[in-house]
Amino acid sequence: MPISPVSRRHFIASTAAAIGAASLARFGTSTSLAADAPTSQPSKPLGYAFVGIGGLTMGQLLPDIMKCKYCKPVALVSGHPDKARAQALKYGIDQKNIYNYDNYDSIKDNPDIDVVYIVLPNGMHAEYTIRAFQAGKHVLCEKPMANTVAECQQMIDAGKKAGKKLQIGYRMHWDAPTLACIESLRKGAIGKLQIINAATGYVSGDPTQWRLNRKLAGGGCLMDIGIYSLSAARYFSGEEPTEVVAQTYQDTSDPRFKEVEQHCDFQLKFPSGVMASCMGSYNVAFNRYTVWGNRGCCLIDPGSPYHGVKYSIDTGRGPVPQPVADVDQFAGEMDGFAQAIAGTAPFKAPGEEGLQDMRIIEAIYKSAQTGQAVKL
Ligand code: NAD
Repeated sequence: MPISPVSRRHFIASTAAAIGAASLARFGTSTSLAADAPTSQPSKPLGYAFVGIGGLTMGQLLPDIMKCKYCKPVALVSGHPDKARAQALKYGIDQKNIYNYDNYDSIKDNPDIDVVYIVLPNGMHAEYTIRAFQAGKHVLCEKPMANTVAECQQMIDAGKKAGKKLQIGYRMHWDAPTLACIESLRKGAIGKLQIINAATGYVSGDPTQWRLNRKLAGGGCLMDIGIYSLSAARYFSGEEPTEVVAQTYQDTSDPRFKEVEQHCDFQLKFPSGVMASCMGSYNVAFNRYTVWGNRGCCLIDPGSPYHGVKYSIDTGRGPVPQPVADVDQFAGEMDGFAQAIAGTAPFKAPGEEGLQDMRIIEAIYKSAQTGQAVKL
């Protein structure tokens, strides 16, 4: 039956409100780490298999999982057997648990593996997530969740069909200074929020890398790094945007930007009246968020590094730093998923969170292409 414009509007509004409420419940009200402390522990550490042994897996995930309480590394999936063997040796992973992309589906016969962590180029996330669900495993998939809204939905559906859980790699959901900052904003430290400014970017290098290939990356700087600005606008406001206006820029004479945008500038309108002005870039190194309220300003600088998020609050007498001890974001994310699977902690970054970002990202690209505002 076709949905009437009124009931469609109502559906969109109530869906957005539900997503907003869910995000608040996950991010806004569980801002103290103590609130996420499990009431009981998972009975045994969950075994993680890492798919793709690139920069993130070797630089952050494998070192951080060694600090986890509720999970451990048990398997690797890689197209490079030598690299996989060396990493397995380094992290005490049984050599029999090294897989490649051809025998990946046989992880279904390996009871050591509880969770599959997808750390592949974005364009491969959907396929490898769905195959992990078909093998009967839970999935933690890196951001951005996939290349399109349709793929995100297929991933969520596959998880439901398999009766397994899906989490997206939104590490900031476990960052202690970020959580403390959100809590302070919710408590009115700078009054009623008015305007958010978010800028995330870095200078991209090798023109042959997958991040600059449209099929493998799904887009340019917005998909990879601008998504942090989008995410920050959502978690600082605690709301879901209702409208977006955007522009992108791509210098196709630069060998890096033949296929994808190098800058993306987008404005988001939120139901309370908060406005966010966000940028992502592959040609500028910045990482800073500013939130203005009617009684002051909060500067988060740097805004989303792996370690060392810092913020200060200025209510008219100059910025006052708010020191909050650092945590290992990826260890929190992997332990958090293990706890959520065991039912001892809330699900802070389920597939629906990735889907919502992807809906907004598609609207941003549509606005940039058409030059029109896009309603969400
Ligand atoms: P990377 O290029 O360093 O590693 C990618 C891995 O995928 C490599 O092991 C490569 O061999 C493998 N691969 C398999 N098929 C491939 C193909 N067809 N083309 C290219 N590589 C292929 O990338 P990365 O930085 O580890 O990023 C992997 C994922 O993690 C991406 O989705 C990225 O967005 C995400 N990521 C997230 C964060 C974060 O802070 N959460 C940080 C970095 C990367």
